Amino acid sequence: MSFADNLASLQTRIAAACQCAGRPPASVRLLAVSKTMPVERLREAIVAGQRAFGENYVQEALEKIAALGGEGLEWHHIGLIQSNKTAEIAAHFDWAHGVDRLKIAQRLSDQRPAGRAPLQVCVQVNISGEASKSGCAPTEALALCRSVAALPGLRLRGLMALPAPAAASTDPRAPFRQLRALFEQARSSGLALDTLSMGMSDDFEAAIAEGATLIRVGSALFGARAGKPAPQA
Ligand SMILES: *Cc1c(COP(=O)(O)O)cnc(C)c1O
Repeated sequence: MSFADNLASLQTRIAAACQCAGRPPASVRLLAVSKTMPVERLREAIVAGQRAFGENYVQEALEKIAALGGEGLEWHHIGLIQSNKTAEIAAHFDWAHGVDRLKIAQRLSDQRPAGRAPLQVCVQVNISGEASKSGCAPTEALALCRSVAALPGLRLRGLMALPAPAAASTDPRAPFRQLRALFEQARSSGLALDTLSMGMSDDFEAAIAEGATLIRVGSALFGARAGKPAPQA
């Protein structure tokens, strides 16, 4: 299947999930997760109309950004943010979804080049069953959001989570519902958030049902990643 075919069938599924949830299809943005995919596959995606790309590994992303340019494209860093990578992320990305502690947020803000719009960020929350070790505790999320919102080089857009695949016995929507509840709590406390970054190839329909505004989809668009284990952040 070509990227264009995969994109078309994904868009049909997104529209159906939105309809079930009583939401307009335009309320969900699609981030194409292109980690490990070569530049030619991204070119194919661009021709098919995709503009927003998610990458986990900074060096790999910088090569793609250099090859494809920033013009009209939007680059999202979606993985774990190491301190020694903040300068490159601040200089070359438009978004960072994995902000999970103040020290990282401060470095990204300080290192954002003066000529660029603030880096758009999501605070990553480790809701129960998070597939990775990253993400702040739910009880710390609001305080972190307030601190991040005050940093001049950043623009806080919302919350992100990467729940572990649900066990058959558990409610697959529960982690998404928890993140949504935190999001609503943050908004009612006065934070101007508009992005709920949750849902991937295997669970985006559940995430849309619970209010996701941005889904991060890799393998359902590009096909399986060779030799790479499950998502890492
Ligand atoms: C790899 C990754 C995705 C995409 O995963 P798929 O299962 O291929 O859709 C989404 N989010 C994060 C943080 C990832 O690391």
